[in-house]
Amino acid sequence: MKNITILGSTGSIGTSTLDVIENFPDDFKVTGLTANSNVELLVQQAIKFRPEIVAITNSEKAKLVSSRLKGKKIEVVSGIEGLIKAASFEKADLVVSGIVGSAGLIPTMAAIEAGINIALANKETLVMAGGLILKEAKKRKVKIIPIDSEHNAIFQCLENIRPKFIKNIILTASGGPFLNLEKKFLKNVTPAETVKHPRWKMGAKISVDSATMMNKGFEVIEAKYLFDISFDKVKVLIHPESIVHGLVELIDGNFMAVLSRTDMRIPIQHALTYPEKKKGYLPSLDMNSIKNLSFKEPDMDRYPCLSYAYRAGITGGTMPAVLNAANETAVHSFLTNKIKFTDISRIIKTVIDKHDPVSNPRLEEILSADSWARKESEKLCF
Ligand code: NAD
Ligand code: MG
Repeated sequence: MKNITILGSTGSIGTSTLDVIENFPDDFKVTGLTANSNVELLVQQAIKFRPEIVAITNSEKAKLVSSRLKGKKIEVVSGIEGLIKAASFEKADLVVSGIVGSAGLIPTMAAIEAGINIALANKETLVMAGGLILKEAKKRKVKIIPIDSEHNAIFQCLENIRPKFIKNIILTASGGPFLNLEKKFLKNVTPAETVKHPRWKMGAKISVDSATMMNKGFEVIEAKYLFDISFDKVKVLIHPESIVHGLVELIDGNFMAVLSRTDMRIPIQHALTYPEKKKGYLPSLDMNSIKNLSFKEPDMDRYPCLSYAYRAGITGGTMPAVLNAANETAVHSFLTNKIKFTDISRIIKTVIDKHDPVSNPRLEEILSADSWARKESEKLCF
């Protein structure tokens, strides 16, 4: 029996993780659940899965959660301190890091410091503080198993492959909802059109990131840290069918790939059961029905965010944290109709151009670069 805590249990990754857990009642037990503000869903999940601890970040809602869970022998905690307490709850064997954005960094770090293995969906954690996270994980002998589908695929390809045999790692990208839209129309796309992803059903923020391809840019940085590989060996190909999730090109001309249905429950099941494998409960990919698998290089003019992410990643230090904070601020402003879709990349460029990065930053320096970038971006979001 593996004890699992889910950070961000009410989100897209969180609910998919609970779906996997529900299908393996003899293998997993939920020890902790956390959410930002969705009381109704959090309470329903707690009643169904009976964790020992539940955290709600929004402190005003903690009383409501407590009263709804009264008599159920579940500890209810709140605020950032509560989130940290739940993340580091010592009975967990694995913490699923499924909070969206920079809010995932501190609790993920807390789980690592407590020596708990991580199934990582929250890529922003590695974008902001990849160096620190990996160092801490190594020190505590904590395993980080990627949930992000591309990295999960590459992780599986790389088992038993020596690093010197790798020529390139290739992340596939769907190209998002505007892949075939003429570039001149991008400035008028609405938030509703943007979050309608053609292949994946995800939270709003990552859906916008997919449309700008900042998501893939973040994944390039994520891959650099997870697989300890230089940026010139991390490539991106647009693959609209979203069936090949990641590829590894070896020096002898062979390619390895992982193919599966476009469903996050597949990489989540892998991460939860790792290093074991369990019989899947979803219909398998019908290879006979696949008529076409296509790949093409992304046009950096169309997707400037992808090139900013490479630039920020190569610069290193506090630059990726600034990239992330500027993106988060701009995406939020776009989703609340304050700016246009094309303003997102413009704002990010202005802010990273202005930043003087600190190399080998400490956590405090990363957090202060993050808040500087938010303030700079907000000045541009109107
Ligand atoms: P989501 O918006 O659906 O869910 C986010 C979760 O985080 C919710 O449970 C919410 O309560 C919690 N949360 C939000 N703000 C918080 C805060 N300030 N403090 C504490 N908790 C907070 O997002 P998602 O699509 O599930 O994505 C989660 C993470 O997984 C992101 O980093 C995303 O990039 C990554 N990811 C998602 C998918 C996917 O298919 N959804 C795929 C790969 C990677
Ligand atoms: Mg991904």
